[in-house]
Order: sequence, then structure tokens, then C-alpha cells
Amino acid sequence: MTSKIIPQPGIMDIALYVGGDSKVAGVNDTVKLSSNENPFGPGDAAREAFRRAGQDMHRYPSTDHAGLRAAIGAQYGLDPERIICGVGSDEIIHFLNQAYAGPGDEVLFTEHGFSMYRISASAAGATPVEVRERERVTDVDALLEGCSERTKLVFIANPNNPTGTMIGGNEVARLAAGIPDQAILVLDGAYAEYVQGFDGGAGLVEARDNVVMTRTFSKIYGLGGLRIGWGYGPKHIIDVLNRIRGPFNLSNAQLAAAEAAVKDQAHVEQSRAENTRLRAWLAEALAEHGVPSDTSCANFILARFASPTEAEAADTFLRARGLIVRRVTSYNLPNCLRITVGDESSCRRVAHAIGQFKAGVE
Ligand code: PMP
Repeated sequence: MTSKIIPQPGIMDIALYVGGDSKVAGVNDTVKLSSNENPFGPGDAAREAFRRAGQDMHRYPSTDHAGLRAAIGAQYGLDPERIICGVGSDEIIHFLNQAYAGPGDEVLFTEHGFSMYRISASAAGATPVEVRERERVTDVDALLEGCSERTKLVFIANPNNPTGTMIGGNEVARLAAGIPDQAILVLDGAYAEYVQGFDGGAGLVEARDNVVMTRTFSKIYGLGGLRIGWGYGPKHIIDVLNRIRGPFNLSNAQLAAAEAAVKDQAHVEQSRAENTRLRAWLAEALAEHGVPSDTSCANFILARFASPTEAEAADTFLRARGLIVRRVTSYNLPNCLRITVGDESSCRRVAHAIGQFKAGVE
């Protein structure tokens, strides 16, 4: 008997998200370089705040996240009233789709854009629309051409995952000014802190009423396992998103750790400096082994192999040596592997193994 219980249209078209393994069976000393995590984790202040928050586990957490919003506002020079916090920036992306896109509406993103945009748009019943890039770089003209009277949301990540590339402020401003009146531009700044002096698009949010910025504690802050993100936008949009947010969406531990982390900018600066140094080293080492990559502005490198077959073989070779990197076939980049910039020893290990692979070592 076929079930009469059926999901909303579009849901069954969503491919299941394939997460990264953190271990390889039978291999000791595995290094996970597949999820763009900070290899150093969070700083001591965030670890201690998390530990202490456990004492209040019988108490419901704050519903308005006032402490965390104030700390973010103070650090980033933003109005706390226009900040919303969520379970990773994924949840902010979900809120935007739930609130602004539905059946008959279109949600735009780029060809190699972050996978959550498609999942979340489809979950809301909207039509995901993928727009071409120019040599793995966001193409503002293509996005503007892709807009229609049905476009409700336009997502770009800057820097982008999985390409690592980014576009300049003037291009982003041109996109914000050119999208249709009924559409919101979402600037995903998950990797913004890796770019020294970059505001992630906050200035554009201030200047316009159709731009939202999303940010995360999962990357440079080293708190991916705790799931905390935030968004910044015009008051009228943040007010809408707060209406669909679960009142207790973040726990005491999440709020405490994030608040301590944002106040610990020394850890952020140290993480950025290490990433910048090791990213340059890794890109150069791979290039010397005949594996080029685009200039990355984030904490990973998109390594390009000669063919999809070679990329797959390299992935298998690395895995057998305990090095877990990310195949990006689902991002339509079948000849590439995305490699997180780990600590120095991980970078050396992965570069050495790729050198061996290219040299034909069995
Ligand atoms: N945006 C981009 C571009 C990402 O790469 C990621 C994580 N991979 C996210 C958003 C979501 O991160 P989180 O939900 O952990 O904040």
C-alpha cells in the first residue's frame, strides 16, 4: 500500500547532505581537513565559559540573547537591536527562506555556492536557481541576469565556499543596487574574519534596506561543534525573522561560549595570522607538485587536479594515509579537492602525500 502521508513538493528533490568523516577505519593518527574548522579550536576563554555554563543546565536560556548580541555589536560596531542569533548561520539561512520564499518564488545562488542555499530554498517550497560563475568567481552580471519578478532571495558567500574566491565591495554594492525591489541580498560572511579588515558587508547593510549579512562562530572562532551563528539586517527584516525563531533556540552553553569567544579577539588574530601563513605555504607546495589552486581568501584551498578520475584517486590515496579532505563533486567541481588549512604538521603531511601521489608512489 502506498502511503497517503506525503511531504511538501520539492522536499524529495533535496539530496541528503553528506557530512565529513573524522576517522578512517584502520588508520591511526587521522587528520580531518574536510570541514574548514579552526585546527586550534576555540581560545581558553570560550572553553572556560562553556564549562561554567554547565552549572546552569537546569535553567532555560535567555530568549533574546541580549548578552551575546551586545558583545557582537560592541566588537563589530553594529546595532545589537538588528542582530539575530541562531543555531549556526545555517539557521539564519533557514529563517530567511522560511520567511521570504515559498512556492512560486525563486532563490538565486551561484553555481559553486554553499549547498545550504539550495536545501533551505527547497525546504521552503521555493525554486532554487543556480547561476553561472566566471572561472570559479561570483559573477554579478550573471546574478543580475538571473533575477526575475519572482526572485525573493539572492545568496552569495564572500569569500565563497568551496572556491575560496571573493569579489570586491563595489561589485557587491552593484549587486545590491541591481536586484529587483522585492528581493533581499544575503551576504554570507562565514569566512569574513579570515580577510584582515573586511567587514563582511556590514557597511552595505547599513547603507541599504535590502541587504542581510550572516556570520558564524564555526570557523575562525573554532566553535563548529557548538552551532552558533548570527545575522545582521534592517530592523524590518530582523523583526520578521525573530517571529519564526524558536524562543530557546540557543542553549546557555552556546550563548556563554560565543560571548566569551567574541570578546577574545587575540585568539581570532592569532588564528588569522597562522591561517594566512600556512595557506600561502600549502598553496605553493601544492603548485610545486603540479596541483594549482585559485587564490584563496578563506581557511581552505581548492586544489585542482587534471581530471575527476585523478581527483578521486588522490582522495583515496590521502584517505589511506589518514588525511581526510573534501571531494566537491556535488558542487560541480569533480576535478577538485577542498583542503582545509590545518596546523603546520597537517599542512606538511598533506603536501607531502600529494607530492607522493603525483610522483606515482603506490
Ligand atoms: N556559509 C558558508 C559559506 C559555509 O561554508 C558554512 C559552513 N560550511 C555555513 C554558511 C554554515 O555554517 P554554520 O551553520 O556552522 O554557521
